[in-house]
Amino acid sequence: MTQNTQQQSSNKFSTYLMFIVLIVLGLAVVALFSAVYAYMLDNTMLAGFLIIIGTFALVISCVVFYQTKRTAASLKIEAPKVMTFIECKNCGTKTTRDFQRGDYVFKELATCPKCPEHKQMITGAYKEIKEKEKTFAV
Ligand SMILES: [Zn+2]
Repeated sequence: MTQNTQQQSSNKFSTYLMFIVLIVLGLAVVALFSAVYAYMLDNTMLAGFLIIIGTFALVISCVVFYQTKRTAASLKIEAPKVMTFIECKNCGTKTTRDFQRGDYVFKELATCPKCPEHKQMITGAYKEIKEKEKTFAV
C-alpha cells in the first residue's frame, strides 16, 4: 500500500477501530455482569476470572479509544495556522494573533495600548510551523 492510499483510508480505519472498541467494551460489560451473576451463584472462581477478563477488556478498549481520539485530533491540525504579526513603530510592542480575513502587511490597526497617539501596524503574516516536524528535522 502506498502512503497516499494509507492516508485516505485512515479515516475509515478509525471508524473500524471504533467499532472494535465498542464490541470489546460490550464484552467487558457482559463479562462484569456475568461475574456478578457468578458471584451470586457462589461461584467465586468463575466470578474472579470474569472480573479479570472484564477489567482487562475495559482497559484495552479505553486505551485504544484514547489513542484513536489522539490520532484523529492530530490529523485535524494538519492545515497550517496563519499568524499575523502586529507591531507599534513608536514603542516597539510586538504581538501576534490569528490571521483574520482582510489582514495585509502595513495595514493600520487600532491604537497601541501603550501610546494612544500611535496606531499599531501589521508587519507580517506567517504560517505556523508544526513543532513535531521541527524536532524531527533536528
Ligand atoms: Zn506603542
